[in-house]
Amino acid sequence: MLSPRQLFLQHQAQTTDFPLLLEVEKAEGVYMYGPAGQRYLDMISGIGVSNVGHRHPRVLQAIHEQLDKYLHLMVYGEIVQAPPAQLAHALAQTLPEGLDNVYFVSSGSEAVEGACKLAKRFTGRTELIAFNNAYHGSTQGSLSLNGSENFKRAFRPLLPDVRHIRHNQLEDLDQITSRTAAVILETVQGEAGVRVPTKEYLQALRQRCTEVGALLVLDEIQSGFGRTGTFWAFEHFNIVPDILTCAKGMGGGMPIGAFISRQEIMHSLKNDPMLGHITTFGGHPVSCAASLATLRVIQEEGLLAQVEAKANRFKERLVHPAVREIRNLGLMMAVEFDSFDTLKRIIDKAILKGVLTDWFLFCDNSMRIAPPLTITFPEIDTACDLVLEAIVEEV
Ligand code: PLP
Repeated sequence: MLSPRQLFLQHQAQTTDFPLLLEVEKAEGVYMYGPAGQRYLDMISGIGVSNVGHRHPRVLQAIHEQLDKYLHLMVYGEIVQAPPAQLAHALAQTLPEGLDNVYFVSSGSEAVEGACKLAKRFTGRTELIAFNNAYHGSTQGSLSLNGSENFKRAFRPLLPDVRHIRHNQLEDLDQITSRTAAVILETVQGEAGVRVPTKEYLQALRQRCTEVGALLVLDEIQSGFGRTGTFWAFEHFNIVPDILTCAKGMGGGMPIGAFISRQEIMHSLKNDPMLGHITTFGGHPVSCAASLATLRVIQEEGLLAQVEAKANRFKERLVHPAVREIRNLGLMMAVEFDSFDTLKRIIDKAILKGVLTDWFLFCDNSMRIAPPLTITFPEIDTACDLVLEAIVEEV
C-alpha cells in the first residue's frame, strides 16, 4: 500500500508541474508540522483563510458542539437552523446599518456568482464592470470578471457583457454608465499583488455608481474578517457597498461564503422566478458555527488592534537591497523582488528554513505575507530573520 506521501507524489506527477514542497501532518496556531516533526511558520494562512490561526480552540469547540446536534437539514423553507440565523445577525452587527440581508454559500466564487445575479436582477441591466488584474474566482461567471486574459483564454465564451477598466484610475470612471448593473471591486486587490486604491478613488467610484444607478459590489473575500486591521477593509475608506462578498477567513478553516446586501435589493432574488438563487450546502450549520466562533475570536481577543503594529514590524524587519517595495494594508502584504526567478529561489530556501510564503497569481515577483492575525511579535521576528537569511543566500 502507498503511503500518503507516495500517493500525493503520484497524483502530483500526473496532474501538475509543481514540485512537492512540503508535507503537513498537523497544524496549530501559526505553525504547520511535517511527519518527521519539522515545524513551519505559516505566513500565508491558506491564502487568508486561517486568520485566527489553525484549529483555534474556540472554533474547534463550536464545530464539535454543532456536530453533536445536526449536520444538514434543509436548504430553505420551513426549518429554522440556529447557526446561520445567529451568524447572519452577528455579521449584520459588523456592518453599516441596512446591510443586513445575508445569503450564505460555500465559497468565494459562489458568493461572487450570487452577487452578480443579484445585481442583474435588481437593476434589470446586464453589464458588469470589473478591473484589470482583478481576481474573483474560478467559476464561469466569476472567471469572466477576472482581469487576466491568461486565465480566461482557454474557457471562452464566458459572460458576454463584462467590461474591464483600469484600477485606481479616475479617468476610467465615466465608463460606468446607466447600462451598468454592477461594478465589482476587491477593496484591496489581492492576486494583483496587494494593490491598495486611494481613498479619493474609492469615494469617487462610490459616487459614480450612485449617480448612474449601478450597484457597487465590494469583494472582501480576501480582505475581510480582520485581515487589514478593520473588520472589513472598506472601513478604511469611508464608503459603503451595495453588495458585499466574503468567504475564506470567514470560516476559520471551514468552507463558507456569503453575499450581503440591503433588504430591498436582496428581495429581488425571491420572486420571478421564485427562489432565484438556491444552493444546497450554502450556510452549512457546522461552517456557520465555526464562522460565528471566528468572528467572536476576532472581536473578543482584540486581534484587530494589533494588526497595524504587526504589519509595521514586518516592514521594519524586512529591509534588504533586494526588497524593492513592500505594499500592504494591515497584514495583507506583498514584498516585491526583481523577478520571479529570484523570488522562487527565496521562497524555496525559506521553506527549507521553516517559513512558508508564496507568490500571487497575477504578480509573480512579489512574496505573499498574510500570516494568521494571532501571530506574535517574536514569531514575526523569527519569520523575518529566516526570510532574510534566505534572501542573503539566494540573491
Ligand atoms: N475573490 C477574491 C478576492 C479572492 O481572493 C478569491 C480567492 O482567492 C475568490 C474571490 C474566490 O474564492 P474561492 O477560491 O473560495 O472560490
